[in-house]
Amino acid sequence: MDTCIFCKIVSGEIKGDVVYRDENITAFRDLHPVAPTHILIVPNRHIESVSKLEPADATLMGQLLLTARKLAEEAGIAESGFRLISNTGKDGGQTVFHLHIHLIGGQGMKHPMG
Ligand code: 5GP
Ligand code: ZN
Repeated sequence: MDTCIFCKIVSGEIKGDVVYRDENITAFRDLHPVAPTHILIVPNRHIESVSKLEPADATLMGQLLLTARKLAEEAGIAESGFRLISNTGKDGGQTVFHLHIHLIGGQGMKHPMG
């Protein structure tokens, strides 16, 4: 995807504050953090959103979650807690259409369901 900003961060074409990288996954700090820890965890391969996942992506999604746990531990928020969010589609508030999981923590948060 030539125009996708997260593909460009994965490839290194544009600079991101990358905190983790392996052959399947890249994680980098959100440009506009909403909490002391705010990291985006993305598959290196362009997948538009959770709505476009296929059964063959099950292992990859497990790796994304395990990466979230590892990064939460490294950030020192595994015990205090954190939130994982994957906004999906228009009603989900997705603004970048390359699947990503927000890892957010380091402060208390209101419950999203009120
Ligand atoms: P979404 O709204 O799709 O769930 O999340 C997209 C996130 O990407 C937003 O939190 C936004 O701040 C972040 N973002 C948008 N453009 C860039 C960028 O160029 N670099 C980084 N690091 N984050 C970005
Ligand atoms: Zn992409």
